[in-house]
Amino acid sequence: VYDPQLDADQALRGRLVDQLRALGRAGTDAAIGDGDAGRLLAYYQPQVSTNTGRPDGVEALVRWDHPTLGVLPPAAFLPLVEEHGLMEMVTTTVMRQAVHDAIRWNRSGRRLHVSVNISTSCLTNPGLVPLVAEVLGETGLAPELLVIEVTETDAISSPDAAAAALNALVALGVGVSIDDYGTGYSSLAYLKDLPVSELKLDRSFTVDLVHDARTAHIVAATIELAHRLDIDVVGEGVEDFPTLHALQTLGCERTQGYLHGAPMSEPDFVRWLDHHVPQDIPARTVA
Ligand code: C2E
Ligand code: MG
Ligand code: MG
Ligand code: MG
Repeated sequence: VYDPQLDADQALRGRLVDQLRALGRAGTDAAIGDGDAGRLLAYYQPQVSTNTGRPDGVEALVRWDHPTLGVLPPAAFLPLVEEHGLMEMVTTTVMRQAVHDAIRWNRSGRRLHVSVNISTSCLTNPGLVPLVAEVLGETGLAPELLVIEVTETDAISSPDAAAAALNALVALGVGVSIDDYGTGYSSLAYLKDLPVSELKLDRSFTVDLVHDARTAHIVAATIELAHRLDIDVVGEGVEDFPTLHALQTLGCERTQGYLHGAPMSEPDFVRWLDHHVPQDIPARTVA
């Protein structure tokens, strides 16, 4: 059956893949880009301490600043990236931008962790650990200010290789965070076997926290478990104050979500930092 829409989509997909390959050929300059393919940008979303009400971390989230389609979110192109084996290019670009931006923020007197998402396919890539060592070396960023986020829902096909990569990263001094915690099928196995320093409670838990007693019990027990293992907890997808306050009461260290700010370009993030008012945030420090 002839489907003109599908045809158009196929053509578009083909063009996008060509452009992604062009960005890959531009190598670490995918951030600078080339006129026809645009550029890959790290956007930044703040993480706010529930203790101080101040930002103490930031997550780098990739965007494709596309010449004709505008700024594309990860869902619009990461599946193509993964399918065509181009994830290493994305990881390299985002890692370099994030660490270079983080050293500037920290030199200007703000202590901020920066978190970078690593797909499972890249975690076991032999280039990852040397990349992290190189970027830390050339910038001088304190390794403990870099956090690697691994998504729990990604099936880890070779757990031993993944554990070896994470141990090598920890040996460099960087943190390891389990993203979307609670949505996978092996959450406890991750905590048992991997050198985890942080877990990010998935939005599916934080969103129901104040309305659903079962969810509240799960969240409370998860935070307590994390703390016994010396693991920090970040609440994801926090959009309102009741959720923030509930997480704060349960001892969650940091929150991230539209309540504080959506992912922003680097200049917008610096403006956000300049205008952020701490007493806007936690009840505990205000009361
Ligand atoms: P993630 O790492 O779990 O990132 C959180 C996602 O939730 C982001 O979507 C963010 O914009 C969104 N979000 C943040 N606060 C809120 C909120 O209050 N409410 C709601 N509803 N959503 C919120 P984004 O930027 O579209 O990224 C989607 C996913 O793409 C990320 O999920 C991550 O898995 C992946 N990703 C992003 N950047 C990279 C990257 O550089 N490399 C890799 N491998 N994956 C990436
Ligand atoms: Mg993440
Ligand atoms: Mg997440
Ligand atoms: Mg999530």
